Amino acid sequence: MKIGVLALQGAFIEHINMLNKLNAETVEIRQKSDFTKDLDGIVLPGGESTAMKKLLLDLDLYEPIKQALEAGMPAFGTCAGLILMAKEFEDSTWKHFELLDIKIKRHGFGRQVGSFRVEEDFADIGKIPMVFIRGPYITEVRQGVDVLAKIGDKIVAVRQNNLLGVAFHPELTDNTGVHSYFLNMVKNCCEN
Ligand code: GLN
Repeated sequence: MKIGVLALQGAFIEHINMLNKLNAETVEIRQKSDFTKDLDGIVLPGGESTAMKKLLLDLDLYEPIKQALEAGMPAFGTCAGLILMAKEFEDSTWKHFELLDIKIKRHGFGRQVGSFRVEEDFADIGKIPMVFIRGPYITEVRQGVDVLAKIGDKIVAVRQNNLLGVAFHPELTDNTGVHSYFLNMVKNCCEN
């Protein structure tokens, strides 16, 4: 299984380490030629969504990635990566990939003071550590979106078909549960 990890900005090395630990092959996507047809899935890491969007456009990566995700390529977005996939935002008209039918409150947990770690249930995996760094949360989900995790009444993980998005950073913990969940999605999607 070969997973592309968007490596323009932000916390991508930690994703690579975690995927390698789970025996997935990884490719750093730094330019258009790295985004090859043989990739089975893609990780959109945390970082700064506005900076990432600008780099995606400047490097001519925005359209090819958007088209691949629309065509069903499995994608896993963490924090800024989740923001990149979302369709709607509270208090803003940002337009990114516009794929995931959710509404997001960017910096929902606050800025620096809003960085924290908790343990909460994730889908059928059970309790996992969740690290938030100026994280968003999801305020609304539309039909077809499954909620995978919540902190109180705040939604922090969702899945819609081939798209998995979490507001926290599983790659900054030693728990591989969410990455395994994603690799299973990839396996069920594409290996037959
Ligand atoms: N606040 C950041 C953004 O809007 C996301 C923070 C993160 O990825 N840790 O892109």
